Amino acid sequence: MHIFREIKALQAHLRLLRSTHSSVGLVPTMGALHEGHISLLKAARKQNNVIVCSIYVNPTQFNNPDDLKKYPRSIDADLDSLRSQNCDVVFCPDDAEMYGDADVGIAFPGLDNILEGEFRPGHFSGVAQVVAKLFHIVEPDHAYFGEKDFQQVVVIQRLVEALKFPVSIVTMPIVREPDGLAMSSRNRRLSPADRKQAIVLYDCLTYAREALVRHESFSSVQDAVRKKCSEHNAKLEYFCLADTRGLNLRNEIADPKNAILLIAAQVGPVRLIDNLRIQPD
Ligand code: AMP
Repeated sequence: MHIFREIKALQAHLRLLRSTHSSVGLVPTMGALHEGHISLLKAARKQNNVIVCSIYVNPTQFNNPDDLKKYPRSIDADLDSLRSQNCDVVFCPDDAEMYGDADVGIAFPGLDNILEGEFRPGHFSGVAQVVAKLFHIVEPDHAYFGEKDFQQVVVIQRLVEALKFPVSIVTMPIVREPDGLAMSSRNRRLSPADRKQAIVLYDCLTYAREALVRHESFSSVQDAVRKKCSEHNAKLEYFCLADTRGLNLRNEIADPKNAILLIAAQVGPVRLIDNLRIQPD
């Protein structure tokens, strides 16, 4: 496994690999790897001759400096996991290498002011910047993203379409803990007591899906979700029903195949997100 901190050295290595191998898969991450990331690496390993994993805690996508400071970092364990997945190349740049003094804003009208965009101003501009940089640097044939960050997937698909990146985006389902909690690097920051309460996000989603399919009104479901969250000391930020395609917010299920529930809540010091399709593929 080759590890690079500099763009030029990485690109020289990839040029060599590309002359003898046909396809390159990229898995962008912020490290503190878990089974969710591993599912992306496994998919990439199956579909490509060369896989590149980036580990970079991207400062421009954090609107909360404390969240950035406390974001879990475990580079040595991450490199061990990547070796065991037969990852070919790891790219772990620092901020100077990725940004220098240059920073631009990228807007996603209609998408970056709802859900995560509403509660994390500037978040998707930061995500789009770093992903665009990684696409330019690595020039992957395929790039892998998890549905855990569903809105991020929609944003990246729009970025690729709008800026004509020659990459195909592959999305993978959410990997969960046995009790249903969506795996997340941030889960490491939950105290044992908060970890128990954190299951409330998935509970709300599964309850809401059943209730909506039974034709209960969205507002009564919202009330019940608010109540469940407060009983678990979770500070609800949003609970929404939306179309999977453009993420237009809805009050009822128009087409079950294209409907998704999304939730964000603060549990103890940790902000968690999750989502559930009304009808899985
Ligand atoms: P992160 O390191 O949190 O930025 O995540 C890197 C990639 O892994 C993103 O595409 C995430 O959506 C994906 N990911 C994170 N958690 C999960 C999960 N529980 N299941 C599937 N994919 C995930």
